[in-house]
Order: sequence, then structure tokens, then C-alpha cells
Amino acid sequence: MGIKLKQAGDDDFIILEKADDLGGTWRENTYPGAECDVPSALYSYSFEHNSEWQFKWSGQQQILKYQHDTAAKYGLGEHLKYQHEVNNLVFDETEQRWTVGTVGGEQFTAQHVVCAVGQLHKLATPVFANADQFNGRLFHSGKWDHSVDLKGKNVVVIGNAASAVQFIPEIAKDAKHLTVFQRSPNWILAKVDRPYTKWEQRLSLKVPFVATLYRRSIWALGEYGVLPAIKGNRVSKWLVKKACLANLNKHISDPEMRAKLTPDYPVGAKRVLFSDHYFPTLARDNVSLNTEGVVSFTATGVVDNSGNETEADVIIYGTGFQTNPFLADIDVIGLGQRTIREAWNDGAQAYLGVSTHGFPNLHLLYGPNTNLGHTSIIIMLEAQTDYVIQAMRDLDRLAKQSCEVKAEVEQAYNQELQARLSTMAFSKIENSWYKDGDKVTNNWVGGTREYVKRLKKADMAAYTLR
Ligand code: NAP
Repeated sequence: MGIKLKQAGDDDFIILEKADDLGGTWRENTYPGAECDVPSALYSYSFEHNSEWQFKWSGQQQILKYQHDTAAKYGLGEHLKYQHEVNNLVFDETEQRWTVGTVGGEQFTAQHVVCAVGQLHKLATPVFANADQFNGRLFHSGKWDHSVDLKGKNVVVIGNAASAVQFIPEIAKDAKHLTVFQRSPNWILAKVDRPYTKWEQRLSLKVPFVATLYRRSIWALGEYGVLPAIKGNRVSKWLVKKACLANLNKHISDPEMRAKLTPDYPVGAKRVLFSDHYFPTLARDNVSLNTEGVVSFTATGVVDNSGNETEADVIIYGTGFQTNPFLADIDVIGLGQRTIREAWNDGAQAYLGVSTHGFPNLHLLYGPNTNLGHTSIIIMLEAQTDYVIQAMRDLDRLAKQSCEVKAEVEQAYNQELQARLSTMAFSKIENSWYKDGDKVTNNWVGGTREYVKRLKKADMAAYTLR
């Protein structure tokens, strides 16, 4: 957003960041093996190619470096204000301005607020009975405690999804014994990763056409290979499932273990994972899979539903994030003193994922129904930033101060989305972080091609202008 604003000739903005560095998820998640499960050639800005990626799927540190390098190259330093955690946003109807308040008590006034707080940053830490009695070390993967040495320790991991399948293979190398508590299995595809060769890196630097073709080929695989499976296409579902089962069967020979690791829900209902190392790790002698479910903690471990205790020196939560309600930590007060919590009482929604009725000039990036299960979120974010800048420009052109999406426009849009989502894999599961109750609040309904097309031009007729 900052880069696009500067490119549009607008330097009059600040970026408020709660931490003391940029990077979001790539700053916060430092667990061993942390990497992006979308290939970097696509999980990067379309306008900022990087020929130095070392692997097809990059590690956390390399992505964070890319973010730092990009921010520096485009001169964002002067706009960034660290240790400014926003906790309230209040719209002044008379002035048509937002007041932005921080935890530290500072206030800023702005015509536009762009909210880019992400969906996955509030840790979900289930509370088990007697959790306070545990005498060992305990932490969440999203706040990895690097002071804990896992060498020779008995380690319990609770959770086995996107984060866990990345760190479990790493920590199993050190642990004396590692027990993975799995509540439900995941569909997992093989990555077949390898380092890029020097000549491949040079080729992508010297021949932009090749880099573009490569980016598009990765995009096409997600859009035309994985997305149809999520939408329910029988052939795609069969193909993705078959590839996942081949990955499982290659590494796990025990039929009982295979059964435990085979999901009973449709491909794509939860995030399809990528790993070359997770299943081989489960087959190690020092690793066990427990599917009984955690009931309580003791001073020295974890008790499961069968009454068995698993000893633990360290317990690691790989239990993900609280994604709902959206904007949980910010009091947003819009027109008529209505809070966004009240407006989103039945689950978050927003027109195109960007604008919501009652909150003029509040522009959401990675807002409701914009998450993806098949490709790079950067594509969505770039479409959103371009859209928001267009809307700002149009307001100036029309000599207006604010735009508020019309209730009926947002309602019709949301109805269309929910009708389409109800037939997709995301809806075919009781619980997931994609949902708030029965409503799929987090995910987009289709491909990025459709989304980008719908955001191509800001339709100001959808808004009340003041
Ligand atoms: P997650 O996908 O929400 O997974 C949480 C895991 O904890 C699941 O296995 C879940 O089991 C389990 N769990 C939750 N509560 C539990 C409880 N009370 N008892 C037992 N198990 C429990 O979280 P995540 O793995 O941190 O990933 C979150 C999202 O972050 C991903 O979907 C992905 O979008 C993103 N992510 C991306 C990357 C990347 O490479 N781009 C890497 C990591 C994460 P159930 O399945 O039964 O609910």
C-alpha cells in the first residue's frame, strides 16, 4: 500500500506498526523450518522480482529480508512508525475524518484508514484441564521460545497443521522423543523441493520473460489444478486426493497409521499442506502419533482420552490462530456511533472484502472473504491496493470527502458469496479457521482471475459519497 501510494504521488501517509520491525507473519513466526507454502516466485510482488530465492519455497528469514529490501528500495522507512499499536478508530461525521488512537495514547487524524492487520496473528491457545500444573516449558509455535533447548528432551506437540508440519521434522532431529497429538489429519502434497541452481537464478535475473512465465505457470497450477478440487470438480478432487495419498503411502507402510493419517473430509475444506518431510518424520523411531485427544496436563506431561500419560519436558502448541472476530483488538466506531463488532455480529463481511457499510473511508486489505486456499495472497493484496488508490483518486476528482459502500450493494454481494461458498469444500467441514459459526467469513469464492477483474475499476456508484 505504501509503495503504491508513493507511486501514485501521495507521500502524506504513515504506517503504524505495533512491533519494532516490519514483516508481519514473517517477523512473528520464527519456529524452526518456518517457510512459505506458496512458491516465492508467486508469493512476491508482481513489480519486485527477486532472482535470489534459494529454493522454490523460501524460508522465513529470506522472505523477511525480501520485505526489508523492498521497503528500503521504495523508501518506506520515513513513513513507518514502530511500536504504535492501534486500539481504536473513531469516525467524526462532521469533519469526515478518522481519529486513530494507539495503546500508548497517541492520536492521529486521517481522511483514509487502510487496515492491513492480517488474519493470522492472534494465537489460539486451547486451555486444557490442569494446564497450570505442568512443570516443564510450554510455548506456542507463533511465539517460539528459542531459549528452550530441545536436545534430549521429551517433547509433546499439540496440533499438526500448516505450522506444525514445518517445525515437527526439524525438532524431531533433536528431541529424545516427540509425540504429536493429532485431532484431525490433513491432506498433504509432496513438495519435491530442491535448491535453485546458479544458472536458474541468473536466467531469472537476465531474462524477465522466463521469470514471468515461471510465475504464471505456478499460478496456473493453483488456479486450474487445486481450485477446481476446492470447488468440487470430481476429476480435480480425485487427482489431488490421489497425489496426497501417494505421498502418504510412500512414507508410511503401517495400514493402521495410514488410516489415522487419512482425512475423512473433502480436499480443500481445510488448507491443503505441502511437505516432503512430515510423513518420513512420523515414521522415525523417536516419534509417535497420538490420536486419542488431550484431556488434561499433569506436572510431568499430558493425559489423553484413554487415560494414558505421555511424559513431556516441553509442550508446544501448534494450534494456530484465532481468526474471528475480525479486528478483535481494535475498537472501530463508525457512523451513528455503531461499532464494527455490532455491524459484524453475524460474522464479518465486506464489499469485495474491502469496504463495509457504516464505515466510510475505512479500507480493508486481506479483509473478510479474501483468504485463499490455492494460491498467493499477494495477488489479492495488489488488487486491493490498486482499488483503494483508485477510490481515493475518484473521491478527489469528484471533490468529495468520503465514500461509504451502500448497504444494499454489500448485502447483495455477500449473499452471492455465501450462496457460492455453500457448495465449496470450505463449507463441508464443521470447524475451521475459515469459518465463524456456520458462515465462511475468511475465504474468497473463486479464482484470483475473477477477483482481480472485479476490483479492476472502483465503481463509485456502489458508494454514498459525501
Ligand atoms: P491451523 O491451521 O489452525 O492448525 C491448528 C492445528 O491445531 C490443527 O491441527 C488443529 O486441529 C489443532 N488444534 C487446534 N485446537 C486444538 C485443540 N484444542 N486440541 C487439539 N488440537 C487442536 O494453524 P497453523 O498450522 O498455525 O496454520 C494457520 C494458517 O497459517 C494456515 O492455514 C496457513 O494459512 C497459515 N500458515 C501458512 C504457512 C505458509 O507456509 N504459508 C505456514 C504456516 C501457517 P484440527 O485440524 O482438528 O482443528
